[in-house]
Amino acid sequence: MSSRQEKGVNVQVLLRCRPFSEDELRSNAPQVVTCNEFNREVAVSQNIAGKHIDRVFTFDKVFGPSAQQKDLYEQAVTPIVNEVLEGFNCTIFAYGQTGTGKTYTMEGECKRSKSGPNRELPQEAGVIPRAVKQIFDMLESQNDEYSVKVTFLELYNEEITDLLAPEELSKVSLEEKQKKQLPLMEDGKGGVLVRGLEEEIVSSASEIFTLLERGSSKRRTAETFRSHSLFSITIHIKEANPEGEELIKCGKLNLVDLAGSENISRSGARENRAREAGEINKSLLTLGRVISALVEHLGHVPYRDSKLTRLLRDSLGGRTKTCIIATVSPAVHCLEETLSTLDYAHRAK
Ligand code: ADP
Ligand code: MG
Repeated sequence: MSSRQEKGVNVQVLLRCRPFSEDELRSNAPQVVTCNEFNREVAVSQNIAGKHIDRVFTFDKVFGPSAQQKDLYEQAVTPIVNEVLEGFNCTIFAYGQTGTGKTYTMEGECKRSKSGPNRELPQEAGVIPRAVKQIFDMLESQNDEYSVKVTFLELYNEEITDLLAPEELSKVSLEEKQKKQLPLMEDGKGGVLVRGLEEEIVSSASEIFTLLERGSSKRRTAETFRSHSLFSITIHIKEANPEGEELIKCGKLNLVDLAGSENISRSGARENRAREAGEINKSLLTLGRVISALVEHLGHVPYRDSKLTRLLRDSLGGRTKTCIIATVSPAVHCLEETLSTLDYAHRAK
């Protein structure tokens, strides 16, 4: 479609603008962001007392406030999951200011509905439950043997904690929890592994809902802290070709809910949050540099500069697909952060 795809660059950048929140509606917050889905354009404009802003950004796809979870999934994610089922590693990131819909986009409302095992997904279900459903629908429709494993971790201040660790670990205080951080090690084959990370074998789509709830409730306690979360699904499929030879396909899908991109030092960060802001800026900047190096086919890709990019090294670049979903608010009070998100996402193109 685009010239970038012709050049074999497999990074797609999407923009999603959430609807006004009830608070924003109540306070009559002026709207400064307009989406043109057809032209794939986002316009930001504001005109007050001599301050005049008028900018237009183009992305691979644009989803305005009325876009549904299903629309975004079908248009952007379905082809990526198909690649994973073919045995490739792919990564989807949600990037944006806190409160703009990263978690809504990735997880959404995915509590189990009570309408039986073959229920449709709730309308509000986000990328993770939809991807899991697509994966199991495909696997269950074929006769091949398969296994599906998931991991779910949180990265806070460059420290890794396991969101699927057994219950007794989750009851420890935050201070102790920080001691439970897991080391990231080289696996000797050019990849990395997280020592001690819980790997759950999943046998049906509905099990993932339980895992997701368990994991994100653990993350919720730390919601006022800004952290990255990484949900990974690894699939092995044993196939027999027409000659009767066995073939194992292994694909991995990484779903990353990035830490809020706002610069809290600008909005009055307190002393103890300074390190957090510094680490987040560092990891988001490294991610941006890794992606531009891949897009521009530079020889040196600085994976090693942050834990997040080290963790994702086998799933970024080469024969992989990467999708960045940048999220923004339509309201004037987020203007500065919206522009910074649009600039970051646009640079990744
Ligand atoms: P973030 O993870 O970026 O901090 P959230 O996903 O928690 O933001 O979203 C903030 C609030 O906005 C939540 O109440 C969420 O349900 C709502 N929200 C975000 N995006 C949308 C959307 N596209 N449609 C409807 N509600 C949304
Ligand atoms: Mg969130």
